[in-house]
Amino acid sequence: MSIIKRQQNHLDWSVLLHEAVRLLQFMVAIDTSQGTEVVLAEHIARVLYKEGIYAKVYEPQKGRGSLVAHLPGGNRPPLVLLSHLDTAPAGESKWPFPPYSGDLKDGEIRGRGAIDCKGLAVAHLAVLLAINRLGIRLDRDIYLVSSAGEEEGGTVGAAWLLARHPKLRAAEYVLSEGGGFGFETASGRYHLCQVGEKGRLSLSVRSDIPVETILNYARVLVGKIKSLEELPESTELKNKLDLGRILSNTVRNHGSEVIFELLPGTDLERLFEDFTSFIRKQDPNARIVIQEWAEGTISKTDTFLYEALKRETYKIGGAGTVPYITPGYSDNRFFRSQGIKVYGYQPLLPDCKPSWIHGVGERISLSSLQFGIKLLFNIITAAFRV
Ligand SMILES: [Zn+2]
Repeated sequence: MSIIKRQQNHLDWSVLLHEAVRLLQFMVAIDTSQGTEVVLAEHIARVLYKEGIYAKVYEPQKGRGSLVAHLPGGNRPPLVLLSHLDTAPAGESKWPFPPYSGDLKDGEIRGRGAIDCKGLAVAHLAVLLAINRLGIRLDRDIYLVSSAGEEEGGTVGAAWLLARHPKLRAAEYVLSEGGGFGFETASGRYHLCQVGEKGRLSLSVRSDIPVETILNYARVLVGKIKSLEELPESTELKNKLDLGRILSNTVRNHGSEVIFELLPGTDLERLFEDFTSFIRKQDPNARIVIQEWAEGTISKTDTFLYEALKRETYKIGGAGTVPYITPGYSDNRFFRSQGIKVYGYQPLLPDCKPSWIHGVGERISLSSLQFGIKLLFNIITAAFRV
């Protein structure tokens, strides 16, 4: 068997970008909100085989395929490029265009997943192809992981892979989703970089105590926990982001369910004990059931990769990088809880709106797609080139 390898040390960026656009259109046009990721995983694997890059599709449940590709480098602990192949459903609300067309119109690829996370999967793949075609030697292996089932909690995808793949557990860094959005402010442009995710403690409470009394006590409890003080410098940016929710512990309810969103480092066990003992004192017959128990996770920023990320972002028009924590969580938490440093960084221009993620009208401009590919390429080669 012979693998046809392209001529090395040659890259035509315009050809690569054209390939990326075509691939993203194809991927968006396949609805993976119900778990048929294997179709895309196998398609990407074929793209990689043609380049002489090893890839494997894992399918622990029928249709739920995840892709792992490997580009060899030096002996340092690996870099993982992490994305996912499933999407949130398009939902009932009216879309301004068909959500699964993948049409290219007015310079934008339209449809569910164009950003989250098929846009990032394609950007990661393009970076891998660029490094391979140019014959660039890095000080470490790159593993490209495009997983199944992220939107439903990641057990069939990232968590399953991580449990079975020692090379992934041995990684030093992961570049993933969760950040990268660009914001234009009077003091210049900023890109968010996700360095952590809040945890969640979700408890269903059946009791005679009025919900308001429960919530008031829950608020007192979370108010006692120290909050992170690392705030972005730009006041304007603070106003644009929901920082109240991001940078403090919060509590809300959904019917009889009390949902705590908690910063990394919060002692969930202590909180749970204090909360349940209060409820039981008020109503000895109260029933409390744990619906969700997830610790928050955070990665430090005084690292080689984060420095490169900041530096390369700044080189483009002096844009600043703002570390932040997302209130929701993703597959990133599986890697962070192994001690791996994870940065959620999908660089996008300010023309892409965070509200499109899981919302209506998701799309990505070709200029944003191109910007993301080039910036990620610059960051990875600046940090790890031999
Ligand atoms: Zn996502």
